[in-house]
Amino acid sequence: MNRRTGAVALAAAAMSLSACGAAITLPAIPTASVATSAPSAGSTPAASPTPSAAATTTDGSMRQGLPDEVVDRLTLSRVFLEVAGVQGLHYRLSPRVVAVGNTTDTVLTTLVETANDSIPRIESLTGEHAKDKYLILAAANDSTAQKWTGDSNVADADGITMPYGKAAWIVIPTGHRFSDGGRVIDDDDYFRHVMDHEVFHADTLPVGFDDPSVPEWMVEGYAEWAANQEVSTGPEKEPPARLPSDTEVVNDTDDGYFRAGMFVQYVADRFGTSKALAYYRAMLVATHGSIAEEFHRATGADFTTTVAAWQHQFHEQFESFDPDWQWVSD
Ligand SMILES: [Zn+2]
Repeated sequence: MNRRTGAVALAAAAMSLSACGAAITLPAIPTASVATSAPSAGSTPAASPTPSAAATTTDGSMRQGLPDEVVDRLTLSRVFLEVAGVQGLHYRLSPRVVAVGNTTDTVLTTLVETANDSIPRIESLTGEHAKDKYLILAAANDSTAQKWTGDSNVADADGITMPYGKAAWIVIPTGHRFSDGGRVIDDDDYFRHVMDHEVFHADTLPVGFDDPSVPEWMVEGYAEWAANQEVSTGPEKEPPARLPSDTEVVNDTDDGYFRAGMFVQYVADRFGTSKALAYYRAMLVATHGSIAEEFHRATGADFTTTVAAWQHQFHEQFESFDPDWQWVSD
């Protein structure tokens, strides 16, 4: 995927937006490595290996070792050992963010500042205030990103949210260079969109979320819709007017993420944000009814008819959509 953007010429992201994926297919990390090797997870960090032993200070602005607050947040998310095993860790803190990574202080500062902007924006939209600070891991290379996500396929990811442990964490592959040579953090507008997308996942997905009966268009479409509120992104070429299948979202086929986001935008425009979010929330409850039943319960409308109506106006919706950040599909 090639892209162009009006204001910023930096080569940020040849990656597909599928990169934004919530890693809902990766239950391995929380149950396997961390739970078995870190019996203290969720309880007292005192039983864990000495945290400071794992952290190296390479920057004068960083204190030796990881402070208790950082260790506590890592433990809450059950990624403590995965993170502690990586050399050259730095961290940055803000009132809402714990950022840790094997990267520079400058990169971590970019993450924290972007997240500081995203969090109130997204929480204002969702009405859900996270009680714990958001944990954002900056992976300086693909192997680190894999370690922190349990995902063997992070090469095209510009952000991954893991809704595990007792609080989600977000992994940003800050060192990965996409096919056009750029990193996800190189384009402020695009990165703002990515952070909003991931914060929406982290803010709204239930802990341990792994429900295949919730369609991918919903998980990713709502995150895209939320992210589009601040920096809207879209393709130059009009994609087919079809609600994407799970596979089309996972592979971002024919701009699957974008189409999913456009459908959610339609639902929100037509029925209101509150009903659109009520539908999303209802589907995230384990005992949810069918897609159509919950849609009718939340909006009073018929799902199939609504999808058809969205398709009917998609061309017009696309024509009137004026993205801040645009790409050219292959
Ligand atoms: Zn996503």
